[in-house]
Amino acid sequence: MNDPQSNPGHGPIVTEALIIGAGPCGLFQVFELGLLGIAAHVVDSLQHPGGQCAELYPDKPIYDIPALPVCGAQELVDRLLQQIQPFKPQLHLGQEVVQFARREDGRFQVRTSAGLQFDAGTVVIAAGLGSFQPRRIGVEGAEAFEGRAIQYRVKNAAELAGKHLVLFGGGDSALDWTLELLPRAGSLTLVHRRPEFRAAPASVAKMRAAVAAGRMRCFEALPHSLQVEDGALTGVNIRTPDGAVQALPAEQLLVFFGLHPKLGPIAEWGLALEKRALKVDAEKFQTSLAGVFAVGDINTYPGKKKLILSGFHEAALAAFAIQHHLYPQKKQFLQYTTTSPVMHQRLGVPD
Ligand SMILES: Cc1cc2nc3c(=O)[nH]c(=O)nc-3n(C[C@H](O)[C@H](O)[C@H](O)COP(=O)(O)OP(=O)(O)OC[C@H]3O[C@@H](n4cnc5c(N)ncnc54)[C@H](O)[C@@H]3O)c2cc1C
Repeated sequence: MNDPQSNPGHGPIVTEALIIGAGPCGLFQVFELGLLGIAAHVVDSLQHPGGQCAELYPDKPIYDIPALPVCGAQELVDRLLQQIQPFKPQLHLGQEVVQFARREDGRFQVRTSAGLQFDAGTVVIAAGLGSFQPRRIGVEGAEAFEGRAIQYRVKNAAELAGKHLVLFGGGDSALDWTLELLPRAGSLTLVHRRPEFRAAPASVAKMRAAVAAGRMRCFEALPHSLQVEDGALTGVNIRTPDGAVQALPAEQLLVFFGLHPKLGPIAEWGLALEKRALKVDAEKFQTSLAGVFAVGDINTYPGKKKLILSGFHEAALAAFAIQHHLYPQKKQFLQYTTTSPVMHQRLGVPD
């Protein structure tokens, strides 16, 4: 499902609809458009679909999805992915939509951080609370090293071989990378702000065993300041709970403080906003720009409630409005999935 068409050298991908955000509402938008015979591409800055459900609370149960008395958040995402399968959606993950412009002919030109370009008839912004960004280390002078000696995700583990590494964090990412990098690092130190870890207990036990065996060090501390010599990062100072500052030599800092959503570039596209949400009407869920729609947590209108259920309803109505925008001559009529032969054909259901 994840389309590899992300070769920036090729021309733009031409699509009837481009959906920004693969959270539950973006995914259901694919379904509602698919029922009307409209194909969609979806872009998300996360490496996986599911938005807040997958990123913030995958194991928590949800109790207010109609006809599902209880459904795990990741389970909901998996069910949505299964439901949209007949429409073969093209998901472009791990890239943020950074540029958006309306062309003179009324179509939209959109570009992602990976250089992928789209030529879209309509755009649906299903960006939730915004794109998830890493929480930064928050020490003076860090910006100069971010993306190089300070990284928020491991891009190439092989490059870290033999290096003196300091990792920050206490969740699964921090612990998984600690265990993965330990055998090949020059030295490895893990720093976490408190004695308890959020990561899987088995990983924590393995890490503690490696500390006991003298293979790595682990400190309860916070980052305090950087050590820099001749413009190069040489280490990091950490502050322990007793207030002492300790110097750790390091060539590479890997920071896993989790992700937080940021509205980001969407706020700069000239669309009408209210309290950092996109203003839409409650009939078409269209933004202040014709052809650009917004569904789910990103939108606002009188009575808006940020619930998955509301986003699903918005996606259904937006789909009809999108169809009308793309094909104004086409007569619209409501069909039931129960009885419509054309919908059965689109869903791959034998009649
Ligand atoms: C702990 C918790 C529990 C919750 N429980 C419930 C519940 O029980 N019932 C309920 O109805 N709701 C619940 N919610 C709320 C629910 O999760 C949201 O209403 C829902 O996720 C909104 O879906 P969405 O698709 O609009 O946005 P999101 O889930 O936020 O997804 C938006 C996606 O857009 C992507 N994105 C944003 N900007 C860009 C960009 N520029 N380029 C590329 N991608 C971008 C983001 O990376 C993200 O993946 C809960 C929320 C939390 C945090």
